[in-house]
Amino acid sequence: MSSRCALVSKIIPFSCVDGPGSRLALFLQGCNLRCKNCHNPWTMGRCNDCGECAVHCPHEALSFQAGRVFWQEANCQQCDTCLKMCPQQATPMASTLSVAEVLKHIARTAPFIEGITVSGGEATTQLPFICELFSTIKATPALNHLTCLVDSNGELGVSGWEKLAPVCDGVMVDLKAWDETTHLKLTGRGNGRIKESIRWLASHKMLAELRLLTIPERTDYLQHIEPLSDFIRSLGDIPVRLNAFHAHGVYGEAQNWRSAGADDIEPLAQALQSRGINNIILPALYL
Ligand code: SF4
Ligand code: SF4
Repeated sequence: MSSRCALVSKIIPFSCVDGPGSRLALFLQGCNLRCKNCHNPWTMGRCNDCGECAVHCPHEALSFQAGRVFWQEANCQQCDTCLKMCPQQATPMASTLSVAEVLKHIARTAPFIEGITVSGGEATTQLPFICELFSTIKATPALNHLTCLVDSNGELGVSGWEKLAPVCDGVMVDLKAWDETTHLKLTGRGNGRIKESIRWLASHKMLAELRLLTIPERTDYLQHIEPLSDFIRSLGDIPVRLNAFHAHGVYGEAQNWRSAGADDIEPLAQALQSRGINNIILPALYL
């Protein structure tokens, strides 16, 4: 068994919001975008062992020894004090886990789930780990009934998708704005590479879902509905999930942004439907 490792921020053994059916969701630490609307902003960075959080943990779950911060899970009360104060938007609670260690988690839940989803952060920043994890699942008789999905921001280049394609059953991708400048403002990067990823994944039958997140007064789908609709139609009949922004968990200016409600989402759904896009998934609830 290989010793390929990943920095893992969290494992949820049973999730019903990270792809179809009940799934184990594996969240990898680190992201290559800086989305202002991120609900898990502490998954963006990587801990540099500055030690700042260790002295402020109210439950003695963190210690700082020999230049490194250590987390004692048994003492942790999940109060999030360390997350909120970290200057790196990281966490001292992430663990370095090997493929073999993650497989042990998966084996415990395998009889009860339909698959696994690797999310983040941005999952594909740790691509070799994902490729090895998925290929091992596919080669293991007790696990090969599990579908292997990735939840991605789409920043990975085509050569990366080509590596993932033989072992991955599908990718869910967010397109956070249509216009390059709007996307840059919201995420810190343009969206050319993301559109290219979406096109490539669709043409290789790997685009499991396209996601559009409406942030009132910030996102631009309706302003660019014609090119957006042309783009989506060109992908084939892929599910388009319309998500509604809410400020829970976000940092900075986004804490003051208005949540999206049905009045924001339904006009977009109608505009897409009137242009022949009918495979639309609406939010299950609005927060
Ligand atoms: S988690 Fe953040 S605050 Fe804590 S040691 Fe690491 S970089 Fe410093
Ligand atoms: S969440 Fe962080 S600050 Fe809170 S108890 Fe756990 S380690 Fe300490």
